[in-house]
Amino acid sequence: LMFEQFDLDSELLASINKIGYTKPTSIQELVIPQAMVGKDVLASAPTGTGKTAAFLLPIAQHLLDYPRTKPGFPRVLILTPTRELAIQIGEDSEQLTELTKIKTGVITGGVNYGSHADILTSTTDILVATPGRLLEYIENEQFDAREIEILVLDEADRMLDLGFSETINRIVAEARWRKQTMLFSATLESPGVQLFAEEVLNEPVFLES
Ligand code: AMP
Repeated sequence: LMFEQFDLDSELLASINKIGYTKPTSIQELVIPQAMVGKDVLASAPTGTGKTAAFLLPIAQHLLDYPRTKPGFPRVLILTPTRELAIQIGEDSEQLTELTKIKTGVITGGVNYGSHADILTSTTDILVATPGRLLEYIENEQFDAREIEILVLDEADRMLDLGFSETINRIVAEARWRKQTMLFSATLESPGVQLFAEEVLNEPVFLES
């Protein structure tokens, strides 16, 4: 089956075509339809399976279906364990949304505190962030997560292994008005990931690539 099977806008299908994806990967086949109807998703998907586009495409479609009505904070938050991964997801997001008005911003540690002011005050739609730096901005009231509609926890197992659990819990609590949460993890075996998934997800569909 092809990407046309999904109810995606032509700008997204055109970007997919331009990037050169010819058909969805198995995790994309599973996640995209469920995410597009607003379900919470618990997915086991290691890196390399195409998980990034699996969550980015439904997110982009949501933003196209429900355009921003007022200026404000980012509407989508993607939390990811490392700087490198955040930058990669940011690039993927920009590519997939290139033909739309959707704006992506990336926030990580390792750069000057304050250099992210533009990203947090402008009309960034999709924010990709590592947990530590983002929580600093929340605590200093430079970022308000209450406008987050969709939350993605990417590589959740690695985030927990890196000791981010307390930080993530605080960010998740701030994003309490969200309508949808997606959790991706290389493994779902670990009790830590299972407990975390129970806390943050609401009647999730369980999908395994
Ligand atoms: P990810 O697991 O999201 O890191 O993706 C792994 C690699 O697969 C990346 O280089 C993606 O650009 C690529 N990719 C994602 N979806 C597809 C697809 N449907 N067809 C071909 N390559 C893809």
